[in-house]
Amino acid sequence: MKPKNSVVKVMPPKLDEEPIAALMRKLLVKIGEDPSREGLSRTPERAEKALRFLTSGYETNVETIVNGALFSEKVDEMVIIRDIEFYSMCEHHLLPFFGTMHVAYLPKDKVIGLSKIPRIVDMFARRLQVQERLTQEVAATLERVLQPRGVGVICEARHFCMMMRGVEKQHSGTVTSAMLGAFRTRKATRDEFLSLVSQKNHPFV
Ligand SMILES: [Zn+2]
Repeated sequence: MKPKNSVVKVMPPKLDEEPIAALMRKLLVKIGEDPSREGLSRTPERAEKALRFLTSGYETNVETIVNGALFSEKVDEMVIIRDIEFYSMCEHHLLPFFGTMHVAYLPKDKVIGLSKIPRIVDMFARRLQVQERLTQEVAATLERVLQPRGVGVICEARHFCMMMRGVEKQHSGTVTSAMLGAFRTRKATRDEFLSLVSQKNHPFV
């Protein structure tokens, strides 16, 4: 199924609004804290800085990241980058979720600089997200940029909103996937991807 809205609209921050730090100070009062005590006195500014970093994906776009790093190559084997770690924020609770993503594509006539794929993952992860959309957005972006024969993305994550509150299931993980083109239509391609991703004895761990 294709996501209806594969790219979330990016809103530039409005500089004339009340600074996030001032809102953080009010938030501290709301939860019953004293923002003037020593340990908290600079917390609103630190929290603003952290939040701006964690949502910095709104201020970047795919074209800037890719920046021409597309190369014409006659490669017809699957390209896989596995275990891309990411940190994101769930849009329902504003709590972190984090995990790893495995990204693969079957080139047609172009390949992308390998370092670009983790940067694309980071760009989407550093926005408010749900895991399903994050997975779809990475896949849809590679499909658009590379026009490959297929793209496969598997995302395994753990959610603080499940671990720390609600059901308090500390060890349950969530797996989402997006399979486009040959990864969707050809079982052999999908199986090759899944087996390469699930190999536990690869040389880097
Ligand atoms: Zn949540």
